Amino acid sequence: MHPNPESATTRRDFLQATAAVAALASVGAPSIVLGASPFTHMALPWGESALAPVIGAQTVGIHHGKHHKAYVDNLNNLVKGTEFEGQPLERVVMATAGKADRQALFNNAGQIWNHDFYWHSLKPGGGGKPPAALAARIDESFGSFEEFRKQFAAMTVSQFGSGWGWLVADSAGKLKVVKTGNAEVPMTQGLKPLLTIDVWEHAYYLDYQNRRADYVNAVIDKLLDWEFAVRNLG
Ligand code: MN
Repeated sequence: MHPNPESATTRRDFLQATAAVAALASVGAPSIVLGASPFTHMALPWGESALAPVIGAQTVGIHHGKHHKAYVDNLNNLVKGTEFEGQPLERVVMATAGKADRQALFNNAGQIWNHDFYWHSLKPGGGGKPPAALAARIDESFGSFEEFRKQFAAMTVSQFGSGWGWLVADSAGKLKVVKTGNAEVPMTQGLKPLLTIDVWEHAYYLDYQNRRADYVNAVIDKLLDWEFAVRNLG
């Protein structure tokens, strides 16, 4: 299955990937720095038990140590011998998005990108109101913080099956809440991610079982790292 790096298909993929990364740059790179392969399993920004009782240590330990790690291990195996070996993670994500013959690469690359972003979106003692400048942007875009909060929770809870809820900025700078399924990322829609909440069941089932809304509301109110959103907004 490894493509011939000299093939026309590979060259076309590379041109598309270059265009995709340029598009990502215009969307705005996130404040987290993501390296080239071998892709790394990001260390948590806080201890495994730091988010308890909102998200328990067992959930964080399995989520980060098993699920997230598996995506990293899978991708490092999948890129071996392909043109993606040694490439930045963003390039793999953007170059494989929407391509049926690159689905496994995309799924694992997207999930690494999303998980790195998710861990940075959370902090112990987070939540509450954003800093003033971002709060003003939220008021402009949603009418009020309470309206944003309601829409973000509803959008995230409504993701059917596995996926992600996001606060994003569109190309005009308007803030929006969106959801993506499975490993999908907002950048492929020209949206700049500011914060995310993982609603795959592995993110909440040990702590909340089927009560996804309780998990989402608790994350919004007690864990969101608004300073991370400010850095991403730029
Ligand atoms: Mn997850």
